[in-house]
Amino acid sequence: MEFALTEEQRMVQETVREFVQKELMPLEQEVLRNEREGRHGLPDDQILKLQLKAKEAGFWGINTPEEYGGANLGPMMTALINIELGKTFIPFTFGGEADNILYHCNEEQKKKYLIPTINGERRACFALTEPGAGSDARNIKMSAVKNGDHWVLNGEKTFISRAHAADFTMVFAVAEKDEQGRGGVTCFLVDRDMGWRSEPIHTMDDWFVSSLVFDNVFVPEENVLGEVGKGFELAMSWITMGRIKIAAWSVGHAERLLQMGIEHAKSRVAFGHPIAEYQAIQWMLADSAVEIEAAKLLVLHAAYIAENSRDPRRHYASIAKLFGSNMVNRVVDRVLQIHGGMGITKELPIERWYRTVRKYRVFEGTDEILRRTIAHNLLQGYVKVGE
Ligand SMILES: Cc1cc2nc3c(=O)[nH]c(=O)nc-3n(C[C@H](O)[C@H](O)[C@H](O)COP(=O)(O)OP(=O)(O)OC[C@H]3O[C@@H](n4cnc5c(N)ncnc54)[C@H](O)[C@@H]3O)c2cc1C
Repeated sequence: MEFALTEEQRMVQETVREFVQKELMPLEQEVLRNEREGRHGLPDDQILKLQLKAKEAGFWGINTPEEYGGANLGPMMTALINIELGKTFIPFTFGGEADNILYHCNEEQKKKYLIPTINGERRACFALTEPGAGSDARNIKMSAVKNGDHWVLNGEKTFISRAHAADFTMVFAVAEKDEQGRGGVTCFLVDRDMGWRSEPIHTMDDWFVSSLVFDNVFVPEENVLGEVGKGFELAMSWITMGRIKIAAWSVGHAERLLQMGIEHAKSRVAFGHPIAEYQAIQWMLADSAVEIEAAKLLVLHAAYIAENSRDPRRHYASIAKLFGSNMVNRVVDRVLQIHGGMGITKELPIERWYRTVRKYRVFEGTDEILRRTIAHNLLQGYVKVGE
């Protein structure tokens, strides 16, 4: 077993680390100030400028296949990159990306949806969850009924990330059965100007989510992504990589927060001594360090397994996400405690992270659903204890 990173992995890690330190961290105070004054933290045009700067350094389409101009770095490298990006709260991702399921587009669809998305000319959102079906996603009710050479979609979606800015959606609906018996959950590519509308949902942090309303939206039959009735598999393949990403961000956030905790503990004096000298504080630092190490190994292991396509039931991705997202919630709570009153102010990013990371235990599989997946895999013998 080899724990050391390869030369290439180390180089990528160092380049992203430098980008985060030089380009993103200096914007943090501006983002906090903008948010305190009720403005959006970082406008989209500024994010685009940063993406173009990163492109010069070769960071463009990190998961995009080379034939589409990307770097095709794979899950391991992506996990390392997301750990580094997680060290700042600036909401940044590299440009040149498209959702993995868009690679199931046929040639015509690629021209209309995949390639413009990679080029940043179009924006997509992924719409599965409904008001009546979240964890129980197989139970979605949005209907797709055939009308000539169109499908007519009716229903509502909820908690859809980035829908406010999307000009098309990959939406999942239950297609009525045809004469050959084909039907069931199907993914459709639906432009906003075909008639769906979105309404913002206000939440505890700056992550944009919306509800989507489909009221007799006519979708041409050539806009089915993949095959009729095969949508659920597509949806699940979208979710696996998201789980590892959230776990990787959690490690990055927690490392930065722990560093803040260490620095504050050394400089803050109470009862005549730096608080770092008190065991109560030391244990919070030590417990955080232990949990971060454990989470990092789980993330890299899940990424390694994904790289080798050996996690079809999302076992290792679920373990990494369950532990990582809970770990970062504990670490941010301890670091806030170490900062005392300062921890809850908007002068520091701690309270912001406190709000940000809470949702990590909800989306891309709640804690309970991840445990359910892990337990099913054990009970059904997909994984064996101790192997
Ligand atoms: C920030 C954010 C972004 C999101 N982005 C998207 C997106 O882009 N696209 C999209 O389609 N969806 C998105 N979602 C929706 C997300 O996937 C759901 O919120 C999630 O799946 C949980 O569903 P729910 O909210 O309906 O909760 P429910 O499924 O109603 O669950 C309620 C509670 O019951 C528990 N529970 C449910 N079933 C079981 C069980 N069998 N055993 C034990 N406990 C159970 C859950 O764990 C939870 O605690 C997003 C959500 C959030 C918060």
